[in-house]
Amino acid sequence: TQTAKGHFIENIIKEDLAENKNNGRVVTRFPPEPNGFLHIGHAKSICLNFKMAQQFNGTCNLRFDDSNPAKEKQIYIDSIKSTVKWLGFDYNTPFHASDYFDALHDFAVELIKNGKAYVCSLSADEMKELRGTLTEPGKDSPHRDRSVEENLDLFRRMKAGEFDEGTHTLRAKIDMTSPNINMRDPVIYRVKKAPHPRTGDKWCIYPMYDFTHCISDALEGITHSLCSLEFEDHRPLYDWILDNITIPCHPQQIEFARMNINYTVLSKRKLQRLVSEGLVTGWDDPRLPTLEGLRRRGYTPAAIRNFCDAIGVSKKESRIDMGLLESCLRDDLNENSPRVMGVTRPLKVTLENYPEGQTEILEAMNHPQKPEAGKRGVSFSKHLYVEQDDFMEDPPKKFFRLGPGREVRLRAAYLITCKEIIKNEAGEVIELICTYDPETRGGTAPDGRKVKGTIHWVNAQDCIDAQVRLYDRLFKDENPEKDGQDFVENINPDSLEILEHAKLERNLEKAEPEAVYQFERLGYFCLDSKESTPEKPVFNRTVTLRDTWAK
Ligand code: ATP
Ligand code: MG
Ligand code: MG
Repeated sequence: TQTAKGHFIENIIKEDLAENKNNGRVVTRFPPEPNGFLHIGHAKSICLNFKMAQQFNGTCNLRFDDSNPAKEKQIYIDSIKSTVKWLGFDYNTPFHASDYFDALHDFAVELIKNGKAYVCSLSADEMKELRGTLTEPGKDSPHRDRSVEENLDLFRRMKAGEFDEGTHTLRAKIDMTSPNINMRDPVIYRVKKAPHPRTGDKWCIYPMYDFTHCISDALEGITHSLCSLEFEDHRPLYDWILDNITIPCHPQQIEFARMNINYTVLSKRKLQRLVSEGLVTGWDDPRLPTLEGLRRRGYTPAAIRNFCDAIGVSKKESRIDMGLLESCLRDDLNENSPRVMGVTRPLKVTLENYPEGQTEILEAMNHPQKPEAGKRGVSFSKHLYVEQDDFMEDPPKKFFRLGPGREVRLRAAYLITCKEIIKNEAGEVIELICTYDPETRGGTAPDGRKVKGTIHWVNAQDCIDAQVRLYDRLFKDENPEKDGQDFVENINPDSLEILEHAKLERNLEKAEPEAVYQFERLGYFCLDSKESTPEKPVFNRTVTLRDTWAK
């Protein structure tokens, strides 16, 4: 469905504009229910709706589908607002389905007056009994033929709070034998004695999703109502409601496939379970695919938007490789993040021929491919740290790092040679005694000798001690629910590794949350926005430098 001309929704809109349908207007909306935090699947819908509006000079509304007061909270509303902005999309004042409660009520009364809706007094179980199945038609409710007067009176009394929850509902009178179960006299209003965050206790009846959604769309003059495929079977009801009330606008519902990604779950209900069972630290745990989690991890809005572009829009469900999301992220970070040096598993290096007490400032490029990104000073002394992994006591020939007698280049500094190894009682190497060649400042030897390996380092006498958190896939299996397994059984026990005493160059003192740095040779990292303190900085690894998952 992805053609050179654009995806299928783009093409539908172009055709509509060519025919001057909707007087040439394009109005879309992103309609989250504020019952949880947004995840990357929502980003697909946000990007699609806002980009269609941008591309065709239209508008896109942010609308809170807040018709179920039992599950909705202000913290979700606040988070959704800021997340949509963070992703880079502008909306005017957000809309709320609850702003339409009066109008929705009046449309319900109109349906009753026209004999198109009735009050049903069956319990939920009785109603279910009569609803039938996919293969078996439903049966009419005994209350289906109540008179208009009786229905108006009962509905008024529902609204006045005379009835308990679960005793009465208002149902659209459509067809109990329809092959589409959504059309078997769906409930459009129910009694719910819960205050609403926006309308307080004005209402004790609330409209159902299918009734609220199409009317909200029409009241806002939405032209193209884009939703995920599971609403395809609801489209006849969407159209039926708008066809049976007096409303001048009839948006076109168009369905597209939801985003699925391997090694994770994308459903508020499942994410909620991970949070409430304490399997992650909260909705913004950097391992989660929530947009707040990804943001805290260091994902950039551009990377997420590019990913949504890359996967396209179609009607076919598929599971996208997490590697593609990470590769979109690396492309952006490689281009835009400044380089710094940090050592995650420090090994002491002492330069025996460097004067004790002396410090010098060396210049390092902030971005090797972008001289315009400038240079920074990094301090150097007799006492350094290098990465434990960059030393081997008995290295193979192709190990171009440190080993006994071997020479390497310290990035932006000098060539050093390992002279002596110091071990602790357990036999572990705890320090390297090296010499440095004062003629090689900046990294090149005047005598032209070739030194292949370049490693990163920090000045042990002028660095930051930080906690570094390394994240891995949250689930062990590509499909966390494979063979019908409960996804929580499939959690990767090694999804978080904490390194308590990483040593980072002092320049990182001014790091801000969400500003991602490339720690040379290690990956991309950013300051944690929640648990970092000036005394104990915490850095999250956003993503590794290369795809270490490629099989
Ligand atoms: P979830 O199933 O995770 O609870 P939802 O569909 O209930 O999500 P809503 O708040 O109702 O979440 O969704 C707002 C919009 O985001 C809807 O139009 C929905 O179709 C869309 N959306 C949700 N998840 C995805 C996804 N994985 N891919 C694409 N669009 C999605
Ligand atoms: Mg929903
Ligand atoms: Mg859902």
